[in-house]
Amino acid sequence: AVKELVPGPESTTVNGGSNGLNKVGEGRLQIVNEHQEFTKELSPYLAKWGMLDKGFAYDVVAVFGSQSTGKSTLLNRLFGTSFDVMDESRRQQTTRGIWMCPSAFSSTLVMDVEGTDGRERGEDQDFERKSALFSLASTEVLIVNLWEHQIGLYQGANMGLLKTVFEVNLGLFGAGGDSSRPKPQEKTLILFVIRDHVGSTPLENLTATLTQDMEKIWISLSKPPHLADATLSSYFDLSFATLPHKLLMPEKFEDAVLELRKRFTDRSRSDYVFQPSYHKRIPADGVSFYMEGIWQQVLTNKDLDLPTQQELLAQFRCDEIAAGAIEAFLASSKAVRRPVEGGSVVDGLGALMRDWLSTALGKFDRDASRYHASVYQRKRLDLVASLHSSLSPLFLGQLKNLHKQIAGQFSRDLAQGLKEPGYDFAAVVDRADFKARKSFIDGGKEVLVEDADWEYEHELGLLEEDLRLIADKMRADETKKMVNAIERTVKRQLLEPVEVALSHPKPGMWDEILTKYREVGESAEEAYLSKAKSYNCTAEENDAALSILRARTWLSLRRKLEEQTADATVLATLRTTFEDRFRYDEAGVPRVWKPADDLEGAFTKAKDETLALLPILSHITPTTPSLLPVLPSPEQSYDLDSDPTPFDPSTAYTLLSPTKRNTIEARFKRDADAAYVEAKRSMVSSVAQ
Ligand code: GDP
Ligand code: MG
Repeated sequence: AVKELVPGPESTTVNGGSNGLNKVGEGRLQIVNEHQEFTKELSPYLAKWGMLDKGFAYDVVAVFGSQSTGKSTLLNRLFGTSFDVMDESRRQQTTRGIWMCPSAFSSTLVMDVEGTDGRERGEDQDFERKSALFSLASTEVLIVNLWEHQIGLYQGANMGLLKTVFEVNLGLFGAGGDSSRPKPQEKTLILFVIRDHVGSTPLENLTATLTQDMEKIWISLSKPPHLADATLSSYFDLSFATLPHKLLMPEKFEDAVLELRKRFTDRSRSDYVFQPSYHKRIPADGVSFYMEGIWQQVLTNKDLDLPTQQELLAQFRCDEIAAGAIEAFLASSKAVRRPVEGGSVVDGLGALMRDWLSTALGKFDRDASRYHASVYQRKRLDLVASLHSSLSPLFLGQLKNLHKQIAGQFSRDLAQGLKEPGYDFAAVVDRADFKARKSFIDGGKEVLVEDADWEYEHELGLLEEDLRLIADKMRADETKKMVNAIERTVKRQLLEPVEVALSHPKPGMWDEILTKYREVGESAEEAYLSKAKSYNCTAEENDAALSILRARTWLSLRRKLEEQTADATVLATLRTTFEDRFRYDEAGVPRVWKPADDLEGAFTKAKDETLALLPILSHITPTTPSLLPVLPSPEQSYDLDSDPTPFDPSTAYTLLSPTKRNTIEARFKRDADAAYVEAKRSMVSSVAQ
């Protein structure tokens, strides 16, 4: 299984180096084991190594070469890594696998590829091919480690290895064509490190020989037709370095290693190896997914399709990054969901939402924009849509709560306005309506989010409808109050004159009463209409209110008349009238009857004159017929079933029925007779004295 080995003694010392990037104990990781399984640990290790957030600011280097050519030793010296080194005292079995360890001196991932010399040992070249594919797809610099004495041996193991490298490279990067796909970086630097360089052959000569060999290999490759003219240099840059014998010249070896290290760390050097054109453009946080994907492809022996790999990587990582952004986004928006659902208007909700959005998108853009552009753009649209739809209930909730709050405020504003002396109802409504609309539009705009296809106009329409209902209700209440107030005025103006008139009935009385009634009615209607102007009432509403007013005015009159024509009242009125005429003379002085007086005649006159008033009291009969009021229709709340009299033309003008009149007349006559008898008696007694 994949295992992490404890750093060897050599690496431990190196790891104690100044940079501290590669901390002891967090050492190397076997990313591909001897069973050709890819590790599940790469991501956590990259995180531990502090590489995950590097974006593109990291490099990858791998080493290739025959077994036991000092590759691991070189890497450990060069990068301060802790790869396994063969114990000189006992020959170890050849292992296969790929190890990874971060450089102690820069943000560089170093890969030690073991067991690429199957050819030399007569084994199949399966792993060699797989690891070459894998390395070319992910590294910028391929170190080819070889002995000086291997150079020029065209048939040597390294040459076979390099042939494989070139071949798989053509398959990987030579496909080209479809410009809509992500284009992988095509160039890789091959750095030949010539070991045990004795010094007798100058580097230039070695370089020339190696270059020639490479060209020969390149030419010997069978290339697909569309790449027939492709040159080695369009895919590879070649570079060279020599190292003295480590065991024989340890100090010189160390010096040369330090010098070589500079080419991996010092960007200002012209021979700095990590040129941007070699970078495979895999963001650091995608390295793990990408490498594993490449390895799986390699394993299934399919043609390794890098554009597809990069697209898959982009999709996977963009989804992951989006999920992370959404999670943080939901966490921050959680706090306000409850109050909004609970009906509160959250102040500055729009600002909060925009803040969450820009945080989430900022996070997404920072990490995801490094991936394939069209995938990133597409996933960004998805993300924006899902963020918007997650905010949409908040938007709608806020609008609903605004609606409720503003409608409540509108009612209070109207009520407040109606308390002002001499208010104009229409103006009060206009003012409150303007304020409400403005509040709503301000609140609605605040909570809008750029690019979301949200609108508050519909909810504004609902609010306006509500405000209209509230104002209508308020207006109906107010007109009702107004009608009541006018009715009180009517009663004050009408009832007293009517009472006075009916207690001193006389011919022509009805003309007076009805003229007054007409005047009061007309001025009541005028009062209503002049006030109603400010209520913006419709014609129908005015008609309805006026007809209520007319019915009530008529009913007030009629009730007062009924009160004044109750039996006892009429009788009292008749008695008073009779006594005024019979007991007092024209000057209002009480009469003292003398025998010479015409008691009989005076009695009869007073009685007849009084009785003549009874028909006047019984019926509303003006001498000018046009004064007779037109009967209004009863107001809706009036119960005609229990008393239809006041509104039925056959009964409305009658106050005393004939029967009633007869009864009253009879009773009055008895009283009058008694008065006569008493007067006669007093006259007799005065004669007797
Ligand atoms: P790898 O199998 O290529 O990784 O080789 P190792 O780094 O494990 O080393 C194999 C053997 O070569 C070890 O015994 C080393 O001590 C030895 N070795 C390391 N560097 C050199 C060198 O520069 N020259 C020679 N001749 N031997 C070396
Ligand atoms: Mg090794």
